Amino acid sequence: MIEVNEVFGPTIQGEGKRIGNPSVFVRFGRCNMSCTGFEVEYETPSGIKKFSCDSYHASDSAFSDQWDRYESSKPLIERVNKILPNYKVDIVLTGGEPLLYWKDEEFQKFMKYYIDHGYHITIETNGSLDINLIHDWQKKILFSISVKLSNSGESVKKRLNIKSLTNMINFADESYLKFVVDKLFLSKAQEEIDNILNDIPSVEVYLMPLGDTADIIDKNSLSVIEMAINNGFKYSDRLHIRVWNNKRGV
Ligand code: SF4
Repeated sequence: MIEVNEVFGPTIQGEGKRIGNPSVFVRFGRCNMSCTGFEVEYETPSGIKKFSCDSYHASDSAFSDQWDRYESSKPLIERVNKILPNYKVDIVLTGGEPLLYWKDEEFQKFMKYYIDHGYHITIETNGSLDINLIHDWQKKILFSISVKLSNSGESVKKRLNIKSLTNMINFADESYLKFVVDKLFLSKAQEEIDNILNDIPSVEVYLMPLGDTADIIDKNSLSVIEMAINNGFKYSDRLHIRVWNNKRGV
C-alpha cells in the first residue's frame, strides 16, 4: 500500500539540479528518520509538541490520518494526470522518504508509467535505504540524494549508508548529493562531507542553506555560497521558501 500526504502542482522545482523546472509533486507519507536537529517546531493532531524538518506533516506518522492510501497505482496516476498541464513537467517524488515504498509493486508501476510516457522523474531521498535497481527504465530516474549530516540530530548509523549511495550513484544515469548547511555548522559540515565523498564514487554535490523562512535562508546563504565556491561544489537556493515561505501545496 502506498501512502500519500499530498499531490500538488504544476509549480516549479524549488531546489537542486532541476531548480526552476515546471513540476508536479507527489509527497509520500512516512520517513525512517525524524531529524529533530532541524528544529522546526510543530504540534501533532493529538497536541504533542515536537521538532523535526519542515516536511513533518509527511514524515511523522502522527499525521497519517490525513494521508491518502492507494492499493493500486491506477487511482494515484489518475489523480496526478488531472493536474498535469498540456506540456511535459517533471514528476517529483518526495516525502517523507519515498524509497520506503520502493519494494511496492504499485509504486514501481507508478514510476514506470511516467517514464514510459516521456516524463522526467526525480526521487528526493535521504539515501539511507538499500534498494535494488534492476530494470533499465529505472536508470532514467534522477536520484536527488539529501544525505543528512550530524546537524540533523540522527545517528551516523541511521543517516549514512555508503552501500546504498554507491549503488544509486553507479546505477542511475543521473544522481547528485545535496547537503543542508548553516553558517554555524560550516567547518563540521566540511569535515563530514569530505569523509562521505572519500567513501563513495565521484558525484555532483550541491549545498543548500538551512532555513524554513526566507529570513533564515538569507542569513545562511552567503556563507554557504562561499563554502561551495571554496570546494568546487554547486550552490542551490531554496526558491519555494523564498517565494512562498514554505507554504504547503505550491
Ligand atoms: S529524512 Fe528528510 S523527510 Fe525525513 S525527517 Fe529528515 S529531513 Fe525530514
